[in-house]
Amino acid sequence: MANGLGEAMQNATALKLALVNAVATTIDRHAEELTTLDQAIGDGDHGINMKRGFEAVAADAAALCAKPWPDFLKSVGTTLVMKVGGASGPLYGTLFMALGKELPEEPAPADVARAFRAAILAVQARGKAERGNKTMLDVLIPVAEALEAGTWQADKLAAAAHAAAEATKPIKAVRGRASFLGDRSIGHMDPGARSSALMIEAVSGTLESA
Ligand code: ADP
Ligand code: MG
Repeated sequence: MANGLGEAMQNATALKLALVNAVATTIDRHAEELTTLDQAIGDGDHGINMKRGFEAVAADAAALCAKPWPDFLKSVGTTLVMKVGGASGPLYGTLFMALGKELPEEPAPADVARAFRAAILAVQARGKAERGNKTMLDVLIPVAEALEAGTWQADKLAAAAHAAAEATKPIKAVRGRASFLGDRSIGHMDPGARSSALMIEAVSGTLESA
């Protein structure tokens, strides 16, 4: 992937369509599971929120994917802000909009690692959360570190993301709705950590096979 990525990402409409399809499909398949996770420590809407958001992205895929990478990612982010709602809509929206702002039109692997880190910082600025607060950041930050360390293999990135989501179980939430539960948030996987891991798996797998 490290070698092929730059080439594959050069304004390839087909690759963008494959990415949208892969993420929308995994969110759709896991919507009930995400909702169940959110029922345990939130209000039970994370699955339906994410499904609504990515269905809207998929419905508009032809127009979105014809755009260059920066505009494509910004438009995905805007759609997520409008359609997902809850806490995760603005946060995932910020992630994608910041990626769009940071990436050049023809991104190389080093650009992806740098832009991903910058996008995470934008999410942190918006949500005022740190690693270890039991949120999506507990998955996104270790993945950023893996990319910065030069890990590009999809199976390794997916394994790191899923392990990081699993590791949110013993944490006590101090951000988001789950923090209202205090100690009762302990023992449950964070729904946003799970949705982030699913998206990382879908995106890295699609990029690798491109
Ligand atoms: P809501 O909590 O408003 O119902 P969702 O259920 O869609 O929104 O999303 C919940 C997820 O959002 C959490 O599992 C967590 O990962 C993420 N989240 C909540 N607050 C923050 C925050 N301040 N920073 C980062 N992620 C957060
Ligand atoms: Mg919720």
